[in-house]
Amino acid sequence: MNREELAERLFKGITETPEEIIARYPKRQLPEGAAVTRMAPSPTGFMHLGNLYGAITDERIAHRSGGVFMLRIEDTDAKRAVDNGVRKIIEVFTRFGLNFDEGVNLEGESGDYGPYRQRERERIYKVFAKALFLAGRAYPCFATEEELAANREKQTANNENPGYYGKYAVWRDASDEDVCKALDEGKEFVIRYRSNGDPEKKAVCTDVIRGKLEVPQNNNDIVILKSDGIPTYHFAHIIDDTLMGTTHVVRGEEWLATLPYHLDMFNTMRELFGWKTPKYIHTAHMLKLEDGHKRKLSKRKDPELALEFYRSGGYPEKVLIEYLMTVLNSNYEEWRAANPDADWRDFPFSVKKMSSSGALFDMEKLRDIAKNVISRMTAEQVYDGVSEWAKEFDPEFAGLLTADPDYAKAIFAIGRGGAKPRKDLVTWADAKAYMDFFYDGLFSPEYVFPESVPAGTAAEILREYAGIFDPADDRDAWFGRIKELAVKFGYAPETKLWKKSPGDYRGHVGDVSMVLRVAVTGRQNSPDLCDVCSLLGRDRVNKRLLAAAEAAEKM
Ligand code: GLU
Repeated sequence: MNREELAERLFKGITETPEEIIARYPKRQLPEGAAVTRMAPSPTGFMHLGNLYGAITDERIAHRSGGVFMLRIEDTDAKRAVDNGVRKIIEVFTRFGLNFDEGVNLEGESGDYGPYRQRERERIYKVFAKALFLAGRAYPCFATEEELAANREKQTANNENPGYYGKYAVWRDASDEDVCKALDEGKEFVIRYRSNGDPEKKAVCTDVIRGKLEVPQNNNDIVILKSDGIPTYHFAHIIDDTLMGTTHVVRGEEWLATLPYHLDMFNTMRELFGWKTPKYIHTAHMLKLEDGHKRKLSKRKDPELALEFYRSGGYPEKVLIEYLMTVLNSNYEEWRAANPDADWRDFPFSVKKMSSSGALFDMEKLRDIAKNVISRMTAEQVYDGVSEWAKEFDPEFAGLLTADPDYAKAIFAIGRGGAKPRKDLVTWADAKAYMDFFYDGLFSPEYVFPESVPAGTAAEILREYAGIFDPADDRDAWFGRIKELAVKFGYAPETKLWKKSPGDYRGHVGDVSMVLRVAVTGRQNSPDLCDVCSLLGRDRVNKRLLAAAEAAEKM
């Protein structure tokens, strides 16, 4: 049996040549300097901050250079795939406004460089694996799990690198007869890459953010096709990124450990097909401080790693983008301060400014950003955000909001829009507690009056005010009445008067308006009382004043 015939046995039905495949993926016609990037998630259903961090980087690199941002689905590991995993990925990134130009989408896929789902590319990988085999750069390996485990044990005992190489790689130089015999016996096999690397020597690669990386050359004959014919990530990404014309591979720093495999294989592909290694960008992990030590955020221990945590928690997407931009480029905050209303995409994002060391994840900072971002939104935007969130996470509250959108928007408009907007909301989930008193069904007052106002006096103030409150008053007139009320009950009409001679008064106007606030809103802390009262209207305000007076009389 010659090599060709053996190749036929190993790669049944694979008749195309690499040249034919390569011809289906012509060089992209893009302007000089345009970058092509891709997100290449596995459809596991778990999307985390690292994915978003990478996606922002990919999107910015591509779109700032007039290039292409693709979505490729790495679904080779069927065990990790979940139902709707792809849909979830697309929905998540669409919510964040990171739009793919090409690749998998909700209808299927678009673009000339597909298919973009790795499972649909099986033949392509096999064509290249077969070509490697014919070139003497790949071989079938029939080693059993037990044999591989025995290798690992020996390697650990001898303090050697793990892997399939040197004397451990028994199938590397097996004769065609031995291979045929194993095939005749129906033994399972994988295809391994045949490395010519020498770990005593260095492989060099320039990572865009880490600079020159020198790593020991790989000599591990890694698996490129598993026994079911499905490729490993190592092999698949080399084929895909080359054929799809990816110029920059942005991926997590966990891939640094296997970078030598990739450099090794790209070398071989250069020899055989003239392929070029893309630019690699290994992004730093987000870290967490625990007991004085920094550690990687973990899926198991840290709920805040999952993007779902922020969605269900009611954090606007913009907040995560803002936060991650501050982590990605240290000059972002300064830019934002100078351009408070600009779109984040106007920022001159630079890969060169990305840090290669892990950033400490800072929830407090994220929440602070959230507060600021929401405070700068219009009432309409807040209404949309809260009601959209509540539809899924608090349908009852959503019902109240959507029953009277104008009323809800008027509530959100209080204290908004000026130079110093109120910052009451960190998340959409905070809205209910902030505004529940505006809804009679949610109003559950706690009557705690200021110390300087005995309950009996409070009741009198409340009854008196119920007689004079007029929602048509402007702010000055409104406050004028409260001042008069203060004087009538022996409270200073201005705080400074009371401060000057506290002995002359029972308290000051602030105490009186606090009594009114407690009655109308049911609490001591609320948005602007004048606005609140005018929005609630005469009947509801009066009803609340009288109910509070009654309660005070019973105290
Ligand atoms: N599927 C790989 C992952 O999710 C992709 C890594 C890459 O972007 O190359 O980690």
